[in-house]
Amino acid sequence: MTKDINCEILIIGSGAGGSTAAKYLTDKGRDVVLIEEGNRFDKDNVLNSFSDVLKKAWRQGGIIPVISKSKFGFGEGKCLGGGTFINGGLMWTTPDIILDKWNKELNTTIFKKENISLNFDEVTKNLGTENLKNNINIESSDSIKLKEIGEKNKIYVAKVPKSINSDNTNKLTLGSVRKNKNSVIDKFILDSEVKGLRVITNCNAKKILTQNNLISHIEATLNNEKIYISAKKFILACGATQTPMLIKKSFGNNYLNSGLEVHLNLRIGVKFNYEINVDKELMFSRQIQEYLDDGVLIMPTSFNKSSFFASLNKLNNEDLLQIENSLNSYASFIIQLQSENHINLNNINNNIVLSYNLSSKDLIKLKKYFTKFCEFLFDTGALEMILPFNKNYILTKNMNLKDYFDQNVYQSNLEMVSVHGMSSAKMGNNKSNKTIFDIEGKSFDFKNLYSVDSSILPSSTIESPQGTIMSLSNLITKNINYN
Ligand SMILES: Cc1cc2nc3c(=O)[nH]c(=O)nc-3n(C[C@H](O)[C@H](O)[C@H](O)COP(=O)(O)OP(=O)(O)OC[C@H]3O[C@@H](n4cnc5c(N)ncnc54)[C@H](O)[C@@H]3O)c2cc1C
Repeated sequence: MTKDINCEILIIGSGAGGSTAAKYLTDKGRDVVLIEEGNRFDKDNVLNSFSDVLKKAWRQGGIIPVISKSKFGFGEGKCLGGGTFINGGLMWTTPDIILDKWNKELNTTIFKKENISLNFDEVTKNLGTENLKNNINIESSDSIKLKEIGEKNKIYVAKVPKSINSDNTNKLTLGSVRKNKNSVIDKFILDSEVKGLRVITNCNAKKILTQNNLISHIEATLNNEKIYISAKKFILACGATQTPMLIKKSFGNNYLNSGLEVHLNLRIGVKFNYEINVDKELMFSRQIQEYLDDGVLIMPTSFNKSSFFASLNKLNNEDLLQIENSLNSYASFIIQLQSENHINLNNINNNIVLSYNLSSKDLIKLKKYFTKFCEFLFDTGALEMILPFNKNYILTKNMNLKDYFDQNVYQSNLEMVSVHGMSSAKMGNNKSNKTIFDIEGKSFDFKNLYSVDSSILPSSTIESPQGTIMSLSNLITKNINYN
């Protein structure tokens, strides 16, 4: 067997989890190789349009279809930086309700608030974002709308921590093209590269090879040629769909019964009674958190005229023309729901197949929060809304909201996406075909195998997960015994 590359620690995947581990270990002077299946986009290798970003930096060139009664797609990054390259970079701490649940269910204190906060602070400090919350001076009009809704209805609207990406425009999640600074790539990967981290892109780990209770090698392809990488320790950070896929490809489908926990995003296009012009403004800075304990968050979302318009392809020409004429009056918001059911993640002949069924409890929640939020919006100057429905998607002010949502919120009428997948190879106290890593991220079966990405989280987080993933990755990486 040719052992083409040798190192002390191999990290597979360069996203939120992998890049955090790479930074920590390189700073400690370890001999680390970081491999990434996707491409590297440097400042002089810029992606210029949203379609370019989708094609080149997202897995499967955009959205991965999820077999479901609803129209449903899942999205994640595939490039140096993984999801951190294409996301808005908002860094939230883990909600207390989630940390309490993890400590209780896993009978531990590892996830106590101080512990996670300490790691969160270390990560954000390294990214240069210590003063996030104090940094918002100018707010976008859609954020001001939420603030107004909060004050009027006495509901809790939180200030969003600023994005770690310095391009804080309202177009960011539609493609953080590399010409703008992206802290994670710069501070965690490129800076570490200067300090000795070996970064290999277009390198796809295909199979984990074992010898007794140790991992001996990874079989990978580098620019489509087979290579082998040996190391003393192996850290999986391939993300929510690919870490379980690599495990399944290596140890068989029965080794891991994988479900992807997700947050569902349902987008509402809202026409206001004035030109709101959000596409020219900054990224949103407010989020409705009043219903967090019920798994629901409501916030504005990135707005870009062309992609907003393109997303309306279900509309007829007459409606489209009307919207085109008043596009400056539109903003979009999302209801984000922690899904009760997970997405089934299947490996069929080395291809990923995702399937999902929305629970009746979640349907009831959606009806409730669509009704509430649309009522708030109409009450603060909204004239008309475009709902994420296949049929009857236009809602106007004179309609009865309760009847409208009772009639239209059913599975096959919904259109939703998720860009927050997690807990697909979750940690646990005992080895089973659902939990193959312990609560310190170490494999139960292989002494030198760890996982530090979104797949390891004990459950979904309700809030955006990147801050949690990075904090946990930092914590796990610190606690690995390197002797
Ligand atoms: C559009 C969008 C917007 C988002 N906005 C936010 C936000 O504002 N705030 C927030 O907190 N979260 C956000 N998220 C979610 C967040 O980006 C992800 O939860 C996070 O990046 C997941 O981190 P990870 O380390 O698990 O995996 P990823 O970041 O997905 O990284 C995994 C990497 O591993 C690579 N890989 C996979 N398989 C292999 C293999 N076999 N060999 C080598 N490499 C491999 C992949 O190509 C990928 O680059 C967003 C996500 C998207 C898609």
